[in-house]
Amino acid sequence: MYAEVLVQYGSKSLDRVFTYKIPDSLVDRIKVGMKVSIPFGNQSINGFVLNIVDTTSLDNLKEIKNIISENYYLNDELMELGKYIKSKTLCSLITAYQTMMPSSLKVNKSKEDYSKYDVYIKLIDDEDKINDYIATHLRAHAQIDIINNLKGKTILKSEFNTSTVKKLIEEGIVLEEKQKKYRINPTDKKHNGVILNDEQQAASEEIKKHLNEYITYLLYGVTGSGKTEVYMDLCDEVIKNGKNVIMLLPEITLTRQMIQRFYDRFGRDVAIIHSSLSDGEKYDETLKIINNEVHVVVGTRSAIFSQVKNLGLIIIDEEHSQTYKQDTNPRYHALDIAKWRCERNKCPLILGSATPSLESYARAEKGVYKLLTLTKRNGNATLPKISIIDMRDEYRKGNNIISTDLGIKIDNALRNKEQVMLFINRRGYSTVVNCSSCGYTYKCPHCDITLTYHKTTNKLQCHYCGYTTFKTDTCPECHEKAIMSYGLGTEQVEDFIKEQFPSARVVRMDLDTTSRKGSTESIIKQIENHEVDIIIGTQMISKGLDFPNVTLVGVINADDSLNIPDFRSGENTFSLISQVSGRAGRSEKSGEVIIQTYNKDTDTLKYILNNDYIGNYRNEMKIRKILKYPPYYFITSVKVKSKNYEKLKNEVNKIATFIRTHIDSNSICLGPTTCPIFKVNNVFRFQIIIKYKRDSRLENTLRYLDEEYALNKDISLEIDVDPIRI
Ligand code: ADP
Ligand code: ZN
Repeated sequence: MYAEVLVQYGSKSLDRVFTYKIPDSLVDRIKVGMKVSIPFGNQSINGFVLNIVDTTSLDNLKEIKNIISENYYLNDELMELGKYIKSKTLCSLITAYQTMMPSSLKVNKSKEDYSKYDVYIKLIDDEDKINDYIATHLRAHAQIDIINNLKGKTILKSEFNTSTVKKLIEEGIVLEEKQKKYRINPTDKKHNGVILNDEQQAASEEIKKHLNEYITYLLYGVTGSGKTEVYMDLCDEVIKNGKNVIMLLPEITLTRQMIQRFYDRFGRDVAIIHSSLSDGEKYDETLKIINNEVHVVVGTRSAIFSQVKNLGLIIIDEEHSQTYKQDTNPRYHALDIAKWRCERNKCPLILGSATPSLESYARAEKGVYKLLTLTKRNGNATLPKISIIDMRDEYRKGNNIISTDLGIKIDNALRNKEQVMLFINRRGYSTVVNCSSCGYTYKCPHCDITLTYHKTTNKLQCHYCGYTTFKTDTCPECHEKAIMSYGLGTEQVEDFIKEQFPSARVVRMDLDTTSRKGSTESIIKQIENHEVDIIIGTQMISKGLDFPNVTLVGVINADDSLNIPDFRSGENTFSLISQVSGRAGRSEKSGEVIIQTYNKDTDTLKYILNNDYIGNYRNEMKIRKILKYPPYYFITSVKVKSKNYEKLKNEVNKIATFIRTHIDSNSICLGPTTCPIFKVNNVFRFQIIIKYKRDSRLENTLRYLDEEYALNKDISLEIDVDPIRI
């Protein structure tokens, strides 16, 4: 028997397949999808069994050395899925398989067993021997104590003195017993008293009728309408049918509350998968899944690869979220993977959102997805009242951070012992620092971007490459003392708020305050326990949080998001601000949202003001149609990058010409143009955009180019099929 083994080749992870002989000792154990160790040149490397065959025309084959992990390998479904990812994202097969495996189990890792054990001790099953021992060791009180303690029991070894236990083990009186233990242990199930309301019931019933069919449902329900209750009701049903569920969330640390709701409902039946778990934790959770010990997997993007047996349902919550697209190779979208798996397993896919992506809503309108709607918040909770403040007027009054109105409302909320959230989508103190005398602007020497001033560290920082430098009092160019800073960031808002509301307890939640493991959770706890009154944060605070005491949300500067030069900025602003607004008034207390802007007349803001998702949808669709953007056209972007500007300019033109002459005549190829951020980390970047409805030649053309440049030292290509931003 022979195995075709896939190995990772070169820094760009190219595919290479080699045939090896399977030694007799492994013939019964080896399976497709397993990691094996193979001799390669004069070293030994790891590879991945792609095929097992009876005969081969090759001779002089070396033998496989060993199987790396027998209890974890990719099953048939995932082996197939890898091929789909390869064709969809134009990556190599090995990259696809590597992506599907938890980090502790990737091909190049050799450690096999991350299991954690508790060591217990017990007496041997030989009473005479024990009595003998006691009789001959009458003065060994410590040992005899342990023996008495252990009679009829198995006890954790760590509860006893180590050296005493050691002696007893050496004497053969006491035995050790290892018991596998999990690092993550969900809390127990609680009784769930929720009875679905009519809308929820209708949505749930509709899906229950079709649990054995591949249908994609779009569950469009306003924030707080109880989508999660619908998900859990369906999970219950799927589990009753003996099947399993994967549920994706955009970001786990911020959805601790969501996981708790799943633990409360399903207890130990839940495994969680996300990137901030340790290798050991990921290993444990993965084993729970492949050993069929759990029926529900809750996780972020990569959880879509969970090897659940008998898949009965996939749920993607907040389906519009950009975190579902991976922005490094392979650039896959979890939604595509979900569709592939649901189709294969003949089960439904549920996409849930209060602000579905344009693509999804368009598909629902066309009947490709089945639309289910939840129109109101549960019980007496209502959607918040939204108002817009023109900051041009406020600026004349001398207010550039907090408008008079927002100030008064914050004051009222504090008086009523309610909490306030202030949203500003930039971290740091100010985003532009320059000299008002000569116009010099601090920019990153490695990137084409201004440096952000961070007051906490008193440094200027590049948010792209991490470069930092000290801020000077005088201009480095003209030496005038005229350094000014502009552009609000979270730190500045925090400073201002602390000054204006000295008795309020304030917390800032952005990348800088949450980078330490556990810090996000601790801030969320502070908010829950009402140990803080005002929360200032970036888009981090927009997602999935449910704090009943938050009644006021202030969007400090809506323009930051609107002004991003991307065809999706209108769509994204609508969903971002709706999500932030959705944090207000989630229980009996009604909520209010104040949006500050310098561009009051923007269409997007008008739709936000009226909570009019459909209006915004129609407006954006009109623009997309005229400009030939998704969902009317597909797009693929090709970024061409190099440290050598001259070579790059030359090469990128050749590439664009090649693409133009090797795609269908109905497709459109734009560019090359420089990327919005032209230089990052000393690498120059150009971009070519291809727009198409259907193109029979594009995939081959791009694959050809990708391979042509794979080993090029100067030029690198980054192909992104269906990019989420350009
Ligand atoms: P969504 O996921 O749509 O944002 P949630 O499921 O978080 O909404 O629901 C918002 C709040 O309303 C939660 O506290 C939830 O427990 C509660 N809720 C939703 N539906 C019901 C119901 N049918 N009965 C009682 N409480 C409900
Ligand atoms: Zn930089």
